[in-house]
Amino acid sequence: MNRTAIRDLATALHRVGEHGDALAAINPGPEQLHLIREDLEHARQLLAAAAGPAPTTRCPEHPTGPVEPDTDGECLLCRIRRGRGAAAAEVAHQEVTAAQVLEVIDELGTDTAIRQFGGRAVSAAIASTTRTPTTSTGT
Ligand SMILES: [Zn+2]
Repeated sequence: MNRTAIRDLATALHRVGEHGDALAAINPGPEQLHLIREDLEHARQLLAAAAGPAPTTRCPEHPTGPVEPDTDGECLLCRIRRGRGAAAAEVAHQEVTAAQVLEVIDELGTDTAIRQFGGRAVSAAIASTTRTPTTSTGT
C-alpha cells in the first residue's frame, strides 16, 4: 500500500465531496460538470495508485522496478538502458573509415563488407568514391 497516494486520495475525495455540496445548492453548467469530471478522474487515478504497491524507485517510468544497489532509489532498469546506450554509442564511435570498407569490398566482396560493417557504412564508403549524391542510403 502506498501511504503518499492515500494522503493525496483523501485530499482529492474531499474536493469531490465539495462538488457534491455545491451541486445541492446550484444548477451546474457544463464548465462545472467538466471540473467535477476532472476531479473524479483524478481521484480514480489516485485510488488506483493507492491500491498498488509502494514505489521502490524514484523512476516515473518504473516506480516499482528494481533498485540500483547502493543508491537512493535509482532505477536499475533505466541504469541498464543507459549503459546499453553508452555501449552502443561507443561502438558507433569506433568509426570505420571508407578506405577500410572499400578494402574489404575489393578483397572479400560487398556481401562480406555489409556483414562486417553494416549496409550504411558500405553504402557510405561506395558513395564516397563515386561522389554521387545519395538519395536513399537504406539499411
Ligand atoms: Zn526506470
